[in-house]
Order: sequence, then C-alpha cells, then structure tokens
Amino acid sequence: MSERMDMDVDAHPQVALVTGATSGIGRAVALKLAENGFDVVVHGRDPARGASTVEAIKKAGSTQAGGHGGHGRFVAADLSVAADVERLAAEAGRVDVLVNNAGIGWFGATPDLDQDTFDTMFATNVRAAYYLVAALAPGMAERGTGNIINLGSMAGQIGLDGGAAYSATKAALAALTRAWAAEFSPSGVRVNTIAPGPVVTAADPELIAQLGSTTLLNRPAQANEIAEVIAFLASPKASYVTGTVIPADGGRSAV
Ligand code: NAD
Repeated sequence: MSERMDMDVDAHPQVALVTGATSGIGRAVALKLAENGFDVVVHGRDPARGASTVEAIKKAGSTQAGGHGGHGRFVAADLSVAADVERLAAEAGRVDVLVNNAGIGWFGATPDLDQDTFDTMFATNVRAAYYLVAALAPGMAERGTGNIINLGSMAGQIGLDGGAAYSATKAALAALTRAWAAEFSPSGVRVNTIAPGPVVTAADPELIAQLGSTTLLNRPAQANEIAEVIAFLASPKASYVTGTVIPADGGRSAV
C-alpha cells in the first residue's frame, strides 16, 4: 500500500513540492515520494533536468500496485531571487508536503568568502525556505494538515573547519524548524529538519569522502538513504514527530 493510500485524507491527491529536485538528494526524494503515491512538483532551474526528473517520476510511480504511473510537473525558479520564490509558491498551488531541499554550500577560510556568495547562500538556503513556508504553511494550517521538511546538515550541529557560513545557514533552518513547529503544529502541520552527514551527490567528492571517513560508519551516505528518512517524515508513520532535527550522519554528531 502506498503512503498516500495509507493516509486518512479526502479525495485530493497529496501534493509534495520538492525544491532542488532535479539532482542529488532532491531528485531521490522526488522519486521516492512519487513511488509512495504523491503528486510531485519538481522545482529546479534547468528545464532539461526538470523534464528528465518528471520522466523518471512517471516510471517510479508505475512501480506501485495498480501501476498508474507517477505524477510530476516541473516549475522553474531561481530561489536566490525573492520574486521567483513567490512565483514558485503561487504556481505550486495547494501543497501538502514541502521539502526545502535546494541549497548551496561553500567551504573555505572565513576571510576568503566574498559577500555576494555569502548573500546568495543565505538567500537560497534560508530566505527561500522562509518565504516558501510563509506562503504555504497558512494554507496547511487552515486545512488542519501539512508537512514541512527542511534539509539541514550535520554542519549545522558540529563545528567544521571551513564551513562557518554554510553551517550557519543550516543551523538557521534548525532554529526555524523549532519556531515553525511552535507556530503551526497546533494547527496540525508537522515541521522537521533532517541533518544529513556527507552524501554522495554533486558536492566535492574529495571533501565528501574525507568527511565520510570521520563518521562512525566510515563512509558517506547515498542520496536514497536520506530520501528514505524524508519519506518517513512525510508519511503518517511519523504522525507524532514534529519540531525535531533528525541526524542521518553515520553517527558523526554523536561523538
Ligand atoms: P545538489 O547540488 O545536487 O542539489 C542542490 C539543488 O539545489 C540543485 O538541484 C541546485 O540546482 C539547487 N539550487 C541551488 N541553488 C539554487 C537556486 N538559487 N535556485 C534554485 N535551485 C537551486 O546537492 P545535494 O547534495 O543534493 O544537496 C541538497 C541539500 O542537501 C542542500 O540543501 C544541501 O545543503 C543539503 N546537504 C547536502 C549534503 C551532502 O553532503 N551532499 C549534506 C548535508 C546537507
């Protein structure tokens, strides 16, 4: 039985908006949620990558019992631009699950980070998530149900040399998660953050391998290992979980 069929919901299809869904963790999440029966709004910037993800969603959905094929549609937006964030929320329409996944990282010595990159990183990682929640959470609260999942990071929980500004964006999401839970969970909206350790995606392979070797499991994660946790948080199986920051970091933040 799919997660969507599992839910005690009305006849509306459950819609998940996944930002940065055309690559890495976001793509794995989009495919997993489609497999679980969600209609997925695939956000990204590149229409070709968007089309490829939507195509993969059709196939992922068709593996379900019934074999109807997954539903996905692509919406392009540059999340570092405030007006684009507003337009994305409007074009997404009703959203039941928001996955704030898109983000950029920068690692290096603190004096080497220029202000434009600093601003773009905070705009993409924090401001975009903030205004998507501002646009979409009130509707969820009104319907008495909804789910927001933010991509934090192990870097937001532990000190990483070279990761000061990136870590601050991820710690900001953890703080927002607790405050949003306080604000929206009394109306039935769950808000959580997952804090992955190093994950094999487009990120610098040397850095990911090196960080992977510092985890208790002595390896980086694959994107689908993160997508599984997000799919759990998006499902009714996590019905009593809100306001949390859940590490999926091979045990790195435990030691
Ligand atoms: P990724 O680069 O494959 O995915 C990030 C996505 O965000 C990309 O599709 C990218 O195009 C999109 N994006 C970036 N800036 C954007 C903008 N201005 N407008 C629209 N889209 C934009 O990397 P990933 O590793 O899959 O990262 C996904 C999330 O997971 C990020 O928030 C990242 O910080 C977080 N994370 C990653 C790791 C890791 O080791 N890979 C670890 C912890 C957390």
